Amino acid sequence: MTMATVSLGDIRAARDRIAGKVERTATVFSPILSERLGVPVHLKLEHRQTTGSFKLRGASNAVASLGAEEKARGVIAASTGNHGRALAHAAKLEGMRTVICMSRLVPQNKLDEIRRLGAEVRIVGNSQDDAQQEVERMVAQEGLVMLPPFDHPAIIAGQGTLGLEMIEQVPDAGLVLVQLSGGGLASGVAAAVKGVSPGTKVVGVSMARGAAMKASLDAGRPVLVEELPTLADSLGGGVGLDNRLTFAMCRDLLDDVVLLSEDEIAAGIRHAYAQEREIVEGAGAVGIAALLAGKVKAKGPVVVLLSGRNIDMNAHRRIVCDAAIGGCAA
Ligand SMILES: *Cc1c(COP(=O)(O)O)cnc(C)c1O
Repeated sequence: MTMATVSLGDIRAARDRIAGKVERTATVFSPILSERLGVPVHLKLEHRQTTGSFKLRGASNAVASLGAEEKARGVIAASTGNHGRALAHAAKLEGMRTVICMSRLVPQNKLDEIRRLGAEVRIVGNSQDDAQQEVERMVAQEGLVMLPPFDHPAIIAGQGTLGLEMIEQVPDAGLVLVQLSGGGLASGVAAAVKGVSPGTKVVGVSMARGAAMKASLDAGRPVLVEELPTLADSLGGGVGLDNRLTFAMCRDLLDDVVLLSEDEIAAGIRHAYAQEREIVEGAGAVGIAALLAGKVKAKGPVVVLLSGRNIDMNAHRRIVCDAAIGGCAA
């Protein structure tokens, strides 16, 4: 068994490397959620990051860590959207060739954006695994450098820079709520948070429909889970049966994992819009949703990550116009 992990030092080095290439996003106090929870609740507004998600942190760090010869070969990844978009942006700044492979489940808005950023897009199969096979074929045939969405030390370290900012912005945080899919985000954030504030709890949040990391943690090893359509489409996909880093880091660093129904996720999107005036995608809303559903208990201040905003606006309108907030009569 490998003991590879990502350290606080790696995350601090990543922060220096990506300074000036990503935004330091704001953390704001939420009076409404604080009143509901009975403890201060702060929202980390990372959905306002350039490219609309935190994925730019990991992608920028990974690209900046490449040598000249690797940069000349270009980069490739399989992505449900936000990693592809972030990688296309980061690689374009460096003038590098970028190829993004994705499954047919990816929403049109995400696909359009990646093409607009100048990346080559290849659509293959019905799952992340199919897209990944295409990546491996092109790495072998064309010599591109693979930068995967989560199971890579430079990606994890880049996402971890969020954890450093959270503790700087809310030094007495008792609990950090972070999205959990492949676990690059949760691994990096937990390593940073626990590194600088060992008493702070870090809890992962996933959708119940296809929560691969939760199933893997329960099984004690990476397992396959059927990929299903969900409002939190950015949380879709497996953890990889040959997972090298994120399974062990999530197992060792996360205090708990919470799962949410589709209705609970929709309520999170609605709350973000109607009460906080923020447009977030399903994945971005799961931290708020977990609080609204009463699925987490907190003793001290809570920091909730809003991880992305790349939602199809027609889908967003249908969700926020639901009768629960009185509809959207013309
Ligand atoms: C990728 C992504 C996640 C999950 O990150 P992992 O590192 O795969 O766990 C959460 N929210 C958004 C918006 C994402 O794009």
